[in-house]
Amino acid sequence: MTALQEEFAVIYVRVSSKEQTKNLSIPTQIRQCTGYCEQQRWSVARIFQDLGESAKTTNRPELQSMLRFCRKHRRKINFVVVYAINRLARQTHDHHAIRAMLSSCEIKLRSVSEMIDDSPRGQYMESTFAAMAQLDNDLRAERTTIGMKAALRMGRWTFPPPTGYTNGQKPGPSLHPDPERGPLIRLAFEMASDGTPQMDIVGRLSALGLNVTPTTLNKILRNEIYVGKIVVPKWAINCQGDFEAIVSPTLFAAVRHRLFSGGSVSHLLDREEFPLRRFVRCEQCGDPITGSFSTGRSRKYPYYRCRRRGCGGVSIRAENLDLSFINLLRRVRLDEQLTKLFAEILRDAHSERQRGITEIRSRLHSRLDKLQKHEDRLVDAHLSGTFDERTMKRQLERVASERIEAQIDLDLIDSRDETNPSDRQIELACRVASVPHQLWEEGNLEARQKLQKLVFPNGVTFKGTKFGTAETSIVFNLLRDSRSKKERVVPLRGFEPRLPG
Ligand SMILES: [Zn+2]
Repeated sequence: MTALQEEFAVIYVRVSSKEQTKNLSIPTQIRQCTGYCEQQRWSVARIFQDLGESAKTTNRPELQSMLRFCRKHRRKINFVVVYAINRLARQTHDHHAIRAMLSSCEIKLRSVSEMIDDSPRGQYMESTFAAMAQLDNDLRAERTTIGMKAALRMGRWTFPPPTGYTNGQKPGPSLHPDPERGPLIRLAFEMASDGTPQMDIVGRLSALGLNVTPTTLNKILRNEIYVGKIVVPKWAINCQGDFEAIVSPTLFAAVRHRLFSGGSVSHLLDREEFPLRRFVRCEQCGDPITGSFSTGRSRKYPYYRCRRRGCGGVSIRAENLDLSFINLLRRVRLDEQLTKLFAEILRDAHSERQRGITEIRSRLHSRLDKLQKHEDRLVDAHLSGTFDERTMKRQLERVASERIEAQIDLDLIDSRDETNPSDRQIELACRVASVPHQLWEEGNLEARQKLQKLVFPNGVTFKGTKFGTAETSIVFNLLRDSRSKKERVVPLRGFEPRLPG
């Protein structure tokens, strides 16, 4: 390198949107930097300017392209010139990262206002400035935080509004319940307090135009902001907000009780007290009914209710609805004669299946026999000199794979075919058809729920004190019809003995 060799510099200037100070404006910075370069007799290769970007990150577009440019022209560029070190980076680590990158390209950093150089003193100055830049940045953040904490302690919400609220303006409350979403949040709390599964709540909210994930819903149900409180644990803030609550403290407590009383909400749903919840729908609005405990004077009674707010189509003591349902089952059950017919049909269907299976099995057996014989013939043909060994092996492989397939089919059928399960199944099916009310009364929650679904696959409706006209399972309908028509009917799935098909 000779003294006469031309040296090149790139200039980087930056102004953030908040900085209105005149002497820091872009033209000023550029003027200062180019003047400095002239003084040093450096040619300016390019000027990079970032406008109004955040001071916080190195993720500024022009800074990035400046660094790329430097790397690309590392042999040509000698200096990066900035007005002040804090133009380059406020954070010390950013600063060092940029410095490291530049020095790996053997490019030196110069600050017009801070007169840094590569002497030990210059280096010391440089890191001092970088540290000051960082301190300044931190203080700015701290100032913001202090202001925020003060506002929060005064009950003003300073973050983006949570779902269900909109931002308010001073001097009014800092939040307003969103006229559309606020009621949906309340609905979510009400459903959760009834023990509605969270997935159902998510579905209902979505149907009403509010999309939340199950995780978000869970956060909402735990967020005290909805009772009008501001709670920020990391700053030890817990105070009354200056805004209106969306849910009452009682409702919030009820939901919290459910969320925290071990297990999930859905786990609590299936309670012995409420076998008919969800299965019975409110005839007035179509919503499935829910179960909850009344707040009686001396003790709590289980109640079924329509869960839709303001509907009131169903509100009945659980034991009364249970009794009505037992009566309903008694009315739809098959009499003795029909039950006998039912059993006959089931037996027929079963033996038909059995015949089918026997047929398939014998077909598979004869196929296996044939394949075995074919193998023997192939070997004979080879031994008698008709086939060479290669041909024989190829043919044998083909036969073998077919044989394996047939064997697998046969194993499958044998493994599925239980030894005469029909009698037990038929007996049970007949009991379901003839004495469903008894089975329901005797059954536990699981048995009850299965049975009611078997008899009324589409559920039933209820209003006031009466069940609506419910569609019974096809078995009941068809058997009743068949009595008049004397027609042969096919039993529905669920009553059929399970067989391979
Ligand atoms: Zn209703």
